[in-house]
Amino acid sequence: MKTKPVKEDPKTPGQILSEKLTFDLKNCWDTIAPEERPKIQEFAEGYKRFLNQGKTEREFVGICLDRLRADGFVSLDTLLDSGNKLQPGDRVYWNIKGKSLVFGVIGRRSPKEGLNILGAHVDSPRIDLKTNPLYEDSGFALFDTHYYGGIKHYQWTAIPLAMHGTVITKEGKNVSLCIGEEEGDPVFTITDLLPHLAQDQMQKKASEFLDGEALNILAGSEPYQDDKVKNRVKLLVLSLFHEQYGIVEEDFAGAEIEFVPTFKSRDLGLDRSMIGGYGHDDRCCAYAVFQALLHAETEVPEKTLICILTDKEEIGSVGNTGAQSRTFENFAAYLCSKTLERYTDIELRRCLEHSVMLCADVNAAYDPNYDSVYDKKTASHLGKGMVLSKYTGRGGKVGGSEANAEFCQKVQGILNKNGIRWQFGDLGKVDKGGGGTIALYVANLGVEVLDCGIPVLSMHSPFEVISKIDLYTTYQGFRAFLQEA
Ligand code: MN
Ligand code: MN
Repeated sequence: MKTKPVKEDPKTPGQILSEKLTFDLKNCWDTIAPEERPKIQEFAEGYKRFLNQGKTEREFVGICLDRLRADGFVSLDTLLDSGNKLQPGDRVYWNIKGKSLVFGVIGRRSPKEGLNILGAHVDSPRIDLKTNPLYEDSGFALFDTHYYGGIKHYQWTAIPLAMHGTVITKEGKNVSLCIGEEEGDPVFTITDLLPHLAQDQMQKKASEFLDGEALNILAGSEPYQDDKVKNRVKLLVLSLFHEQYGIVEEDFAGAEIEFVPTFKSRDLGLDRSMIGGYGHDDRCCAYAVFQALLHAETEVPEKTLICILTDKEEIGSVGNTGAQSRTFENFAAYLCSKTLERYTDIELRRCLEHSVMLCADVNAAYDPNYDSVYDKKTASHLGKGMVLSKYTGRGGKVGGSEANAEFCQKVQGILNKNGIRWQFGDLGKVDKGGGGTIALYVANLGVEVLDCGIPVLSMHSPFEVISKIDLYTTYQGFRAFLQEA
């Protein structure tokens, strides 16, 4: 028996016009083909593994380096003193003190025609130790801390924390610490005040009720068995550090020790559509960037493809591993000198000015629990695709670079052509706050830069939330950009 074709009502002129003229923001889950669903889950699984292993900038860069070397990338550093030139298809990386990383694939065209760049940052808000951190108070061994990045202090109490870091001992030994991540490891915590005695505290403003100075980490409570010495609880903790890692107290002075939540990243929601975890900002973008270059469309690209994974974004992109430093410019110079017949400063300047970049960072997703701070029509929404942010900054657009109209339309065009769903992403209502990214520092070099990224809920908290489909869509957007920009 034949089924009758269903006759749809003809579209009204208004419907036709509306389809033509208005931007159609759709939930990506409604738009994907069934065969895409397993790919989205699979990509998320890979990301969760990365996130669990890379909870600090050093760890994340370390995993990326292992993978790059396994994939045939070679250190540009080792090539610099050789007379050999780079050829199209060659894969190189530049390891910046183990905390920041630039890598790329050499294209057929001259670097003077510009590079196609993706960038993200790999540091996240956390609790760092002070330089002389360990002390004893009232029978407890405690670590004194100085938080890193913009955190709400109170969110970091009463949760299990893991100790990660790098200590260079007096003897010059490089010790990597990671305590609290393995099942059976001890963990640490910052205690909170019981509600029964919090009557006064609860009257205070959230910004005041827990001082940054009060973020002290509980590290021990058992005294060392020798009543001839003072501070026996502290001494027992020190003795354990010494036994297990060869560390003495003064080694903490220059160490980089970071306390992060012990949580593993987990599927979130019964439908498993989201991922909850520590450090999505900005490692979800960093992961998407990394995978996009590893899985670029062609082995020998037309233009040279570059990824920048940078450190210190959360405290202003400072230092010699941050985006304000000249490390990327240096990399571009080395790259030009190793690909061009004759290298001059002019060639480098032309390379930078002809380069284009997507600066990938997470965006504050609209949260119905906090409706009043968002402008719903320009905010990003979980599940609605890759976010494009023409500008960042705060009150009066201060402190961000703004992408040029021509470049914005070029990126929108690439995404549209490839069927990649994208959305807007202004950060909150005007004058409600703001933030910045690394975009302006790369823009200073003359590179065309557009901010983009993945929407996140509970940003900068110990447990941030993203949507798996945004992660996957953004990854695809990055691949399209590398190929076509
Ligand atoms: Mn960020
Ligand atoms: Mn951030």
